[in-house]
Amino acid sequence: MWIKRRRVLSLVCLMLLWGPLLVWSAGDTLRVREQEVRELYYTLKTSTARQEQRIEWLRTIRAFQLLWRDYPQTAAGKRALFTTGKLAFDLYRRFHKAEDLQNAIRAYRWFITLYPQSRLADDAQFQLGEIARQLGDVSQAQEAYKAVLQRYPDGDMRPKAAARLQELSLRQAWRGGDRETPSRRAGERLQQIQGIRHWSNQRYTRVVVDVDGPVQFRTNRLTQPDRLYLDLFPARLGYPTPQQALAIENSQLKGIRIAQNRPAVVRVVLDIRQIHSYQIFTLNDPFRVVIDVLGTDRDADTPGSRRTAQQARKRSPHVSLVQQLGLGVQKVVIDPGHGGKDPGAIGPTGLQEKDVVLDIGQKLRRLIERELGWEVVMTRDGDHFLALEERTAIANSHDADLFISLHANASPRRESRGIETYFLDLASSPEAMETAARENSTSVRHISDLQAILQDLLLNTKRNESSRLAGAVQTALVSALQKRYTRIENLGVKQAPFYVLLGAEMPSILIETSFISHPAEEKRLKKEAYRLAIARGILAGLKRYADQTRRLVSWQQQGMGAR
Ligand SMILES: [Zn+2]
Repeated sequence: MWIKRRRVLSLVCLMLLWGPLLVWSAGDTLRVREQEVRELYYTLKTSTARQEQRIEWLRTIRAFQLLWRDYPQTAAGKRALFTTGKLAFDLYRRFHKAEDLQNAIRAYRWFITLYPQSRLADDAQFQLGEIARQLGDVSQAQEAYKAVLQRYPDGDMRPKAAARLQELSLRQAWRGGDRETPSRRAGERLQQIQGIRHWSNQRYTRVVVDVDGPVQFRTNRLTQPDRLYLDLFPARLGYPTPQQALAIENSQLKGIRIAQNRPAVVRVVLDIRQIHSYQIFTLNDPFRVVIDVLGTDRDADTPGSRRTAQQARKRSPHVSLVQQLGLGVQKVVIDPGHGGKDPGAIGPTGLQEKDVVLDIGQKLRRLIERELGWEVVMTRDGDHFLALEERTAIANSHDADLFISLHANASPRRESRGIETYFLDLASSPEAMETAARENSTSVRHISDLQAILQDLLLNTKRNESSRLAGAVQTALVSALQKRYTRIENLGVKQAPFYVLLGAEMPSILIETSFISHPAEEKRLKKEAYRLAIARGILAGLKRYADQTRRLVSWQQQGMGAR
């Protein structure tokens, strides 16, 4: 008994010693961080030279996003989210990139949802009206301004919203109710729409529109019949004309149509049966627009179905940990990187990343099936090319529980060696950014653009699970290799925005198994035994993750029983 008391006493002493210090240092870090972002903001706002650089804007926006992510419940964190929206809208007005506008809308919507009591909530609502007004979407703008009056009758934005409503009704009367539409500027080049692809299952559809260059887009959801349209401009249908109507029969969609809507506008229409939500983002090199549609699952929810618990957890964002973890891991998607025309990184003597990771993937598949009894789906089982968006689409449409992307690292610094595991987030370092740029086969500049669209993924619960999965695999893989090989360097778990992980619905990681650019590691990667050791190490990590998951579930169940 006294042992216990002594332990409590020493804990109290420790808290007395460290408590105030910890509180003080947390507050101090926040103050320092806020000071830093404020300086970034004023440097940008006072330098016209900097404002010409898109990257400067994105860097500043990112700093505010990170501050919000780290301190979401503080006044500074809330202000940071609001400023993110403001900066993204300013950025749109300068460069006219549709994604910036989407980011502004997301930031303001998050703000209204998360902080309805904040005195900036009505400002955020008003800004949504301003964005719609800028786009010429009169009815949406009116709706937003009306919401300011109705939801925040005592807010300081009330007079401004009322004035805008009056202005819009005058303008509408003058135009005879016509809505402003995107028009073609003289001499503007029309991008060609090359085709449309899709993947789907009972609760998920991904539609990809291939374009031969960057276009802007706007979306709207219409009722009677329920449909979502996406206008791409300036654009025209390519030749040969892509298929104009795609038959698609699932619980979310009735069909997909594409047509030249106006001279410079191509419209893609998704005829909706029943959907939960949708998300749109763009990828570069080649340019494409990706539409992810999530269903409500109802049609697939048959009694006794193996996936019922998992469907239940996906339906509601507010489920308990037990429900979230569902039945545990049953199905894994293994994604050997690159393939076909894309060799990936190439070693000093010519070893190709695509061949190495395919072999490791096939070995891992056999091990998982034999030793864990899980079902395995390979994104590719041969040497063929697969676009990045296709890989997650396969994982999502198979309802997989885990997604593992396999790669080999490369660096211009010949001495770089070791093993690292990534999960999707804003880049944790310039080196992580470089790795993401290489794996995305794009430039660091494009990655900065991608950072911005990650904003709404920051609150995704899969981030924590992915981070735990990355930790389990990294630890097990490194220790397995260290038992048999010398100089295995542990580069740790890192974060970066990888296209291949974007939109994955399950915990997902990307493993850089070794540096193919390092002569000694390339030599090892050529050997059957080393590849098998890597596969075994990953297997041990997956097993560790699944065991942890089971323990977490049983702790939670015990905790619930005790209450
Ligand atoms: Zn790779």
